[in-house]
Order: sequence, then C-alpha cells, then structure tokens
Amino acid sequence: MFKAEKFIGKKACVLGAGKSGVQATKLLACRGFSVLISDEKKSAHLPALPANVRVETGGHTAGVFNCGFMVKSPGIFPRHPVLQEARKRKIPIFSELEIALAFMPKDICVLAVSGTNGKTTTTALLGEILKEHCAKHFPQRRTFVAGNIGAPVSAAAAEMKPGDFLVLEVSSYQLEDSTFFRPKVACLLNITPDHLDHHGSMQKYIAAKARLFKNQRSNDFAVLNGADQYCTQIAAQLKGRLTAFSAKPSHMLKTDVFFDGDEIIFSAGYHLRAPKLIGIHNVENAMAAALCALAVGVTPQTIQTAFNRFSPMEHRIEPFAQHAGVTYVNDSKATNLDSTLIALESFEKRPHIWLILGGRDKGASYEVLSNEIDARCKAVLTIGESMDKIAQELKAHVPLVRCTTLEKAVRHAAAHAQKGDVVLLSPACSSFDQFKDYEQRGRVFKKLVIGQLK
Ligand code: ADP
Repeated sequence: MFKAEKFIGKKACVLGAGKSGVQATKLLACRGFSVLISDEKKSAHLPALPANVRVETGGHTAGVFNCGFMVKSPGIFPRHPVLQEARKRKIPIFSELEIALAFMPKDICVLAVSGTNGKTTTTALLGEILKEHCAKHFPQRRTFVAGNIGAPVSAAAAEMKPGDFLVLEVSSYQLEDSTFFRPKVACLLNITPDHLDHHGSMQKYIAAKARLFKNQRSNDFAVLNGADQYCTQIAAQLKGRLTAFSAKPSHMLKTDVFFDGDEIIFSAGYHLRAPKLIGIHNVENAMAAALCALAVGVTPQTIQTAFNRFSPMEHRIEPFAQHAGVTYVNDSKATNLDSTLIALESFEKRPHIWLILGGRDKGASYEVLSNEIDARCKAVLTIGESMDKIAQELKAHVPLVRCTTLEKAVRHAAAHAQKGDVVLLSPACSSFDQFKDYEQRGRVFKKLVIGQLK
C-alpha cells in the first residue's frame, strides 16, 4: 500500500499527463513531494502546476527513473517499456486511485462500481441516492462521486472528511494497477469481451475486474450480476457478503432482487419503482445501485426519492425533444454494436425508429443488428466513414439512406418521421472521423434537432 511516510524526501514520477495524472501530481506536490510528470504525447493544455513539479511532454527521458516511486495513469499500457524498466529497477508503481486513497481519512465509506457496461449510470445513480441519504439523515456527511466518471479521485482526496461517502467508477485499467484497494461495497455489473488489446486476454480482463473484491473482508459487501457467467465465476472466490441482482428471469446465482415488469422487488420484502430510464439494462443498473445503498444502511424510501428525481444521463438513450408526436433520442455513447443493440431492444417491437448509424468503423459486422433493425426501424440513415460497409452488410434489410453527415440525417428524419416515431442517434461507431468525441457528436445532434424544429 502507498504509505506517504515511507516515501518522504523521495521524488515522484507520474506517467501520463491526462486528467488523473495531473490531479495526482497536484496532490503529491501539495503534500510536499517533488514530482516529474511525463507524457509521451505533446500536451498543450496542462494547467498551472506548483513550483515543485517538473513537466516533460513529447517523450519520456531517462529522468523518469530518477524517483522513489511511480504513479501510472490508467490509460498506459501495462507492458509499456518504461514500466518494464521501472519494474526491473524495483521502483514501486502505484495507481492514481491508490495514491489518492492513501491521502484520504481512514474512516470514509468507499463504494466502487465496475463492469463492462453501465458503470457511469450506476455510479451516478448511487451518488444521487447517497446524497439524498446524507441530506435527509446526516447533513454533516458528504458524498463524493469520482473516478472514471470524469472527476479524478485525487481531486476528491483533498476535500474529504471522516464519515464521508466516496462513490467510485472504476475501470479495469485502474483495477489492474491497484493491489490494496478495498471498497466497503464493490459492485460488478457485467463482463463482456472488451479492452482485450490492453489486457492481453479475456482471462486477464476478468482477473482485473476480480481485483475489486480481492481485499474485501467478511464485513464488506459484494454486489454482482447473477445472470452473468463471469460474475458467477468471481462469486465463488468472494470473502465479503454477496447480494446478486438480475432483471432477467434466468440466472445462475440466487438473486436478492427481481423485476416483475413493473417494479423492482426485493426478497427482503419491499419494492421500488425504477427510475424513468429507457431499457431493461437500466433496471439492472438501478437494482445494483439500490443493493449497494441498502448495504450501507440507506432506506428504501430514500432510494425511491432518488430514483424519482434521476433524469436520463446525457448521450445514453437520452430522450431530449418531442415534436409533432416524434421523439428524438441521443445515444451518442453507443460507440459499439453491443450498445446500439441494447438501445434498439429498449424500444417497442414495431417499425417506428429512424436510426442514425455510422462513424469510424470498429471492425465488427453490422449484421448483428439486422434482426432488431427489421423489427423496429423504418429506415437506417447512414453517416461517416463506415457508410459503405454498412450498406454492404445491411442492404437486404430496411431502406438505407446515405446521408454522409449528421446534419443531412437530421434533416431527412425530421422531414419524414410521423407521429409515434422515434429518431435515434445510436451510431455503433466511434465519432473520431467527424467529431472530437462522442460527447461533441451528441451535442451537435441535439443542436441540429432543436434548430430543425424551430
Ligand atoms: P459505461 O460507463 O460502463 O460505459 P454507461 O452507463 O455510460 O456505461 O452506459 C453506456 C452504454 O452501455 C449505454 O448506452 C448502454 O448501451 C450500455 N449499458 C448501460 N448499462 C448497461 C447494462 N447494465 N448492461 C448492458 N449494457 C449496458
């Protein structure tokens, strides 16, 4: 475990000058360490840093090894040559997560959410529940929401007080570097093949996720998806108390909560109305957030209040406009086929969707969408680099309209959609061919739609 007192007087080297690297640097510098922050990319956007920080960008020099310990940003490849050399030289390497936790008060309550899909939604929902819980019952305690969700954990470290709640969205990248991480409540939503280029194999990816539970003890809590084969494997090795969820009728683990199509029913005897989010996957996210909150003593009434207030998250099957009976939905976060499939399955089975599909292709075949497209779409409006491939693979299905740009796709959809229809941006592709990122793509979509409807 990173113990600051053990490293006093030693230099720190932070690898990676992204958001979390910068915050870890600031935290260490404020605690008196001199820090070298090093990035192989040229970065023009570094904020002002304290005087005891040296910055190198555009490549790592041998200076990175002139340190007592290293902090690795999550995105850096585990087999990166600098890390291999540091291991050879026996330089301790810590994750940003472990550094941040080391500077927090001992008695904070850490709840961690991981999984291939649904992390951000579940983390945000759990954060809202705990904020409601504090406001109602413990006004002196605060809830911090951090991690992959966008706010680096190191930024929260400076502000946390004993008794506060810390809700963390943790990715497999952060977990693979964390040796001592021990959340009071650890939640694993699901595991499907992803990030295999980074981890090297499915087994290593599962092992990284399993680290969430590794240091837990008998008075800690594990919340798992009872219908997920890999979660089930992990359940066999748990030391903490297991509660499981599934919104599907068939599951491998005995579940403590189920969905009757209308309400979420808990075996403990109470029931909750799910938040107003589209799709059965969001019922699962709500179940998981509720089980985490119940584990730390939140009442079902408080959870219901937070559920009732929770609005759809931006870019995740987000209905944002309605005009002449047509609903416009932004699912720009759907950067792969799985997510688009989930979005399509979340709507009624009748041809009523104008699906905007395409962007930078990720290699898999669009054929997997064909059944859902046939059952639910009136037309597919294609945009971006992948238009030809989509046309090739989906030509035997619903009408395909080659739109090239989001602007033309919105114009076409708005001109043709009828009462009861849905215009859905769920591209199944990354956005980098035409946009900075999926967030910019989603915002442009919303602006174009609002402009079109004026
Ligand atoms: P993450 O942070 O893990 O990427 P998000 O909450 O941002 O997850 O959701 C991203 C997309 O993942 C959603 O738009 C949806 O397509 C899919 N998704 C969300 N929750 C689940 C879930 N519980 N199971 C499967 N897919 C999900």
